[in-house]
Amino acid sequence: MSKAIYPGSFDPLTMGHMDLIRRAAAIFDELTVAVLNNHEKSPLFSVEERVNMIKEAVSELPNVKVDSFSGFLVDYARTHGIQVSIRGLRTPSDFEYELPTAQFNRILSKGQVETLFLATGLEYAHLSSSAVREVAKFKGDITGLVPDCILNEIYQKYGYKLEE
Ligand code: ADP
Repeated sequence: MSKAIYPGSFDPLTMGHMDLIRRAAAIFDELTVAVLNNHEKSPLFSVEERVNMIKEAVSELPNVKVDSFSGFLVDYARTHGIQVSIRGLRTPSDFEYELPTAQFNRILSKGQVETLFLATGLEYAHLSSSAVREVAKFKGDITGLVPDCILNEIYQKYGYKLEE
């Protein structure tokens, strides 16, 4: 069985993430979306909230699981028999950051965990969690930027709701 992991912050999940999840789930038998529990960052949503929001958004994709992890990604991958880590590339600066991380993970896993890059869909090239947070902070309309089923959670976090 081919298994992949898609690690990230997902703070919050965006349609760009969803695009990658759908595409990776079509390539592998099983995909685990894994929220990194990074104690250094102060996130908008707790790890538990993010896991639950992603679970809601992927509920119709039968081969997608959602979990969280701390520590080394490759340790989680090896423990769960996962061979491939998925990352998305939007810009050259994504690549500059991702290349050494992928090389480091390959060394750390003794070649057992490979990184597979998926190029962003054109329509999502400018979409990031931080852009969503920025728009929501100023009470803007984030419809279409994140899955509909998590819109309310984000509005609630910032204490507003758009008129119907
Ligand atoms: P991290 O803090 O690990 O970068 P993110 O949630 O910001 O977590 O991103 C997780 C992964 O998803 C990264 O590989 C990132 O490049 C990718 N990604 C984020 N937004 C998009 C998008 N709009 N299109 C394609 N890939 C994306």
